[in-house]
Amino acid sequence: MNEKNQLVVQKFGGSSLATEELLRNVAARVCERREDGADLVVCVSAMGDTTDELLSLANRLSGDESPSPRETDALISTGELVSASLMGIAIRGLGHDAISLSGRQAGIRTDDTYGSARIANIDPKRISSELERGRIVVVAGFQGLTPTDDTTTLGRGASDLTAVAIAASIKADICEIYTDVDGIYTADPRLVPDAQVIPHIGYEEMLEMASLGAKMNPRSIEMAAVHKVPMLITSSFNPDAKGTRIGNFKDSDNMEIRKSITSIATERAVSRVTLIGVADRPGIAAAIMTPLADAGISVDVIVQNVSTGGLTDLSFTVGQEYLQRVTEITSANNDVEYTDLATRDGLAKVSVVGTGMTNSPGYAARMFRALANAGVNIEMITTSEIRITCIVDEKNVGTAAQAIHSEFELEVV
Ligand code: ASP
Ligand code: MG
Repeated sequence: MNEKNQLVVQKFGGSSLATEELLRNVAARVCERREDGADLVVCVSAMGDTTDELLSLANRLSGDESPSPRETDALISTGELVSASLMGIAIRGLGHDAISLSGRQAGIRTDDTYGSARIANIDPKRISSELERGRIVVVAGFQGLTPTDDTTTLGRGASDLTAVAIAASIKADICEIYTDVDGIYTADPRLVPDAQVIPHIGYEEMLEMASLGAKMNPRSIEMAAVHKVPMLITSSFNPDAKGTRIGNFKDSDNMEIRKSITSIATERAVSRVTLIGVADRPGIAAAIMTPLADAGISVDVIVQNVSTGGLTDLSFTVGQEYLQRVTEITSANNDVEYTDLATRDGLAKVSVVGTGMTNSPGYAARMFRALANAGVNIEMITTSEIRITCIVDEKNVGTAAQAIHSEFELEVV
């Protein structure tokens, strides 16, 4: 490995590799970067919808049972093996030396939670020695190996996590994520035509955004923050995109966007569940939430009213896809008494995120005023240190996002 070369991990997602032609284009881009003098590890997802297709095939073949988690992981890990070896072949076809490695060959060890395994450690020996031989190293994303040598996968969309973990273990200068958008936007550009790509964002803000559905895997941001891996999120289709840098930025780096609010996140298809007339006693919230957590359902905004006469109302939101299960589980829950269970779907979440608003109550008032002026009713509110979230009617999500975007003048200078 040439000492002065930049050490770069690049990750390409499934939509960037969906066809032979796209794969060829990505290989050409990788080679250009190599010619510019970078040492490269290229981490790939499965081509297009391969993972979904393999999963539905498994479901069809498994009869009444759900398919075994071990076999499912062995199966779906092959999508990334295909794209990694094809990428290795395509890079060689363009005249550069390349080698593809499976998760196992790349030294990625995980626990044995099939379907959402956690990375235990990476032994980067093989990656490093291949880099030293001057090769471009292509690694199959999304997979690892249990202590007893069975294949695991890391969770849907987790090729990003492989890329960041490798970048941390080989101390790469940067981990670049290539995707089908130009970067992280100040708001969803389909809702807010004025939305722009954010040039820099801190890990903390990016983590909030990712948890709010901003197209990034939150675990990969968390890992990047812990290991201080600088990241770039950019387009694999638009070579002119500058992308978004994620890292620890000092105020001086951030002069272009010295705004207290960095971005607006929106999420559709939110449902609300309300338990009316719940006994207000210790343990009641735990009794409601525990069976939901056990079923793997994540509950979001939770609001409990002040009780009158020992009874209270408790509302929470879940993704619409979970509403039916939540209703079933809660109705069957003998540890909780209530008068009535009401549900409402067709809601959306609109959040403003920004470290600049810590301890500044004025931001919430401005957000609520902007929504009121736009005629948008707020159904529920929750806040964290660096976020304010309002639940609104889903049909108002665009109006709400635009109103807040212009209230906080989220233009990037
Ligand atoms: N192919 C896997 C998935 O579709 C991993 C990834 O795309 O990052 O979830
Ligand atoms: Mg994918």
